[in-house]
Amino acid sequence: MIRKGMKLYSILFGACPKCHQESMYDNKNPYALPDTLRMNEKCSHCNLKYQMEPSFFYGSMYVSYGVGIAFAVTAFVISYLIFESSLVTAFIAIVITLIVFMPIIMRLSRNIWINLFVGYDKKVLKK
Ligand SMILES: [Zn+2]
Repeated sequence: MIRKGMKLYSILFGACPKCHQESMYDNKNPYALPDTLRMNEKCSHCNLKYQMEPSFFYGSMYVSYGVGIAFAVTAFVISYLIFESSLVTAFIAIVITLIVFMPIIMRLSRNIWINLFVGYDKKVLKK
Protein backbone atom coordinates (compact mmCIF):
# COMPACT_ATOMS: atom_id res chain seq x y z
CA MET A 1 0.00 0.00 0.00
CA ILE A 2 1.05 3.57 -0.64
CA ARG A 3 0.94 5.62 2.53
CA LYS A 4 2.33 8.85 3.92
CA GLY A 5 6.03 8.61 4.59
CA MET A 6 6.80 6.87 1.30
CA LYS A 7 8.40 8.87 -1.52
CA LEU A 8 5.88 7.32 -3.89
CA TYR A 9 3.06 8.97 -1.92
CA SER A 10 4.47 12.44 -2.51
CA ILE A 11 5.21 11.66 -6.18
CA LEU A 12 1.77 10.25 -7.01
CA PHE A 13 -0.35 12.67 -4.99
CA GLY A 14 1.75 15.84 -5.29
CA ALA A 15 2.07 16.11 -1.52
CA CYS A 16 4.71 18.25 0.15
CA PRO A 17 7.88 16.12 -0.11
CA LYS A 18 8.99 16.94 3.42
CA CYS A 19 5.87 16.42 5.57
CA HIS A 20 3.33 14.81 3.16
CA GLN A 21 0.56 16.82 4.83
CA GLU A 22 -0.79 18.94 1.97
CA SER A 23 -0.76 19.25 -1.80
CA MET A 24 1.95 21.41 -3.36
CA TYR A 25 -0.52 22.56 -5.99
CA ASP A 26 -3.10 25.29 -5.78
CA ASN A 27 -5.71 23.12 -7.51
CA LYS A 28 -5.53 19.36 -6.96
CA ASN A 29 -7.05 18.64 -10.38
CA PRO A 30 -4.26 18.62 -13.02
CA TYR A 31 -6.83 18.98 -15.80
CA ALA A 32 -7.82 22.46 -14.64
CA LEU A 33 -5.43 23.66 -17.33
CA PRO A 34 -4.69 27.25 -16.23
CA ASP A 35 -3.75 25.86 -12.80
CA THR A 36 -1.81 22.78 -13.91
CA LEU A 37 1.56 24.18 -12.87
CA ARG A 38 0.41 26.76 -10.31
CA MET A 39 1.97 25.80 -7.00
CA ASN A 40 1.70 27.16 -3.49
CA GLU A 41 4.77 29.11 -2.47
CA LYS A 42 5.38 27.28 0.80
CA CYS A 43 4.02 24.35 2.76
CA SER A 44 1.75 25.63 5.52
CA HIS A 45 2.74 22.71 7.79
CA CYS A 46 6.53 22.54 7.54
CA ASN A 47 7.29 25.86 5.81
CA LEU A 48 9.25 24.18 2.99
CA LYS A 49 9.69 26.58 0.07
CA TYR A 50 8.82 24.55 -3.04
CA GLN A 51 10.67 26.72 -5.54
CA MET A 52 14.00 26.45 -3.73
CA GLU A 53 15.88 28.59 -6.22
CA PRO A 54 14.89 30.58 -9.33
CA SER A 55 13.82 28.29 -12.19
CA PHE A 56 14.11 25.25 -9.93
CA PHE A 57 11.47 23.31 -11.84
CA TYR A 58 13.16 23.75 -15.22
CA GLY A 59 15.08 20.62 -14.26
CA SER A 60 11.84 18.66 -14.24
CA MET A 61 11.92 18.87 -18.04
CA TYR A 62 14.63 16.20 -17.99
CA VAL A 63 12.36 14.02 -15.88
CA SER A 64 9.36 14.67 -18.12
CA TYR A 65 11.28 13.17 -21.06
CA GLY A 66 11.59 9.87 -19.19
CA VAL A 67 8.02 9.97 -17.93
CA GLY A 68 6.77 10.76 -21.45
CA ILE A 69 8.70 7.78 -22.84
CA ALA A 70 7.11 5.54 -20.22
CA PHE A 71 3.62 6.67 -21.26
CA ALA A 72 4.51 6.31 -24.97
CA VAL A 73 5.87 2.78 -24.52
CA THR A 74 2.76 1.82 -22.56
CA ALA A 75 0.53 3.19 -25.35
CA PHE A 76 2.58 1.30 -27.95
CA VAL A 77 2.43 -1.99 -26.05
CA ILE A 78 -1.33 -1.70 -25.53
CA SER A 79 -2.17 -0.74 -29.12
CA TYR A 80 0.42 -2.71 -31.11
CA LEU A 81 1.03 -5.82 -29.04
CA ILE A 82 -2.28 -6.30 -27.24
CA PHE A 83 -4.77 -4.94 -29.82
CA GLU A 84 -2.48 -5.89 -32.76
CA SER A 85 -3.02 -2.58 -34.57
CA SER A 86 -0.90 -1.33 -37.47
CA LEU A 87 2.23 0.75 -36.82
CA VAL A 88 0.46 3.91 -38.01
CA THR A 89 -2.41 3.31 -35.59
CA ALA A 90 0.09 2.65 -32.81
CA PHE A 91 1.82 5.94 -33.62
CA ILE A 92 -1.51 7.80 -33.49
CA ALA A 93 -2.26 6.11 -30.16
CA ILE A 94 1.09 7.33 -28.80
CA VAL A 95 0.47 10.93 -29.92
CA ILE A 96 -3.05 10.95 -28.45
CA THR A 97 -1.78 9.44 -25.19
CA LEU A 98 0.93 12.08 -24.83
CA ILE A 99 -1.55 14.89 -25.46
CA VAL A 100 -4.25 13.54 -23.15
CA PHE A 101 -1.87 12.76 -20.28
CA MET A 102 0.28 15.90 -20.65
CA PRO A 103 -0.99 17.58 -17.43
CA ILE A 104 -0.33 14.38 -15.47
CA ILE A 105 3.11 13.96 -17.05
CA MET A 106 4.05 17.55 -16.18
CA ARG A 107 2.96 17.18 -12.57
CA LEU A 108 4.56 13.77 -12.12
CA SER A 109 7.83 15.19 -13.44
CA ARG A 110 7.74 18.08 -10.99
CA ASN A 111 6.92 15.73 -8.13
CA ILE A 112 9.77 13.38 -9.03
CA TRP A 113 12.15 16.31 -9.48
CA ILE A 114 11.46 17.89 -6.07
CA ASN A 115 11.57 14.46 -4.42
CA LEU A 116 15.13 14.00 -5.73
CA PHE A 117 16.19 16.90 -3.51
CA VAL A 118 13.86 16.76 -0.51
CA GLY A 119 13.20 13.69 1.61
CA TYR A 120 10.45 12.86 4.07
CA ASP A 121 11.13 14.08 7.58
CA LYS A 122 8.72 12.83 10.24
CA LYS A 123 10.37 14.90 12.96
CA VAL A 124 9.22 18.10 11.27
CA LEU A 125 5.61 17.47 12.37
CA LYS A 126 6.40 17.02 16.06
CA LYS A 127 7.89 20.51 16.36
ZN1 LIG B 1 5.29 20.27 4.27
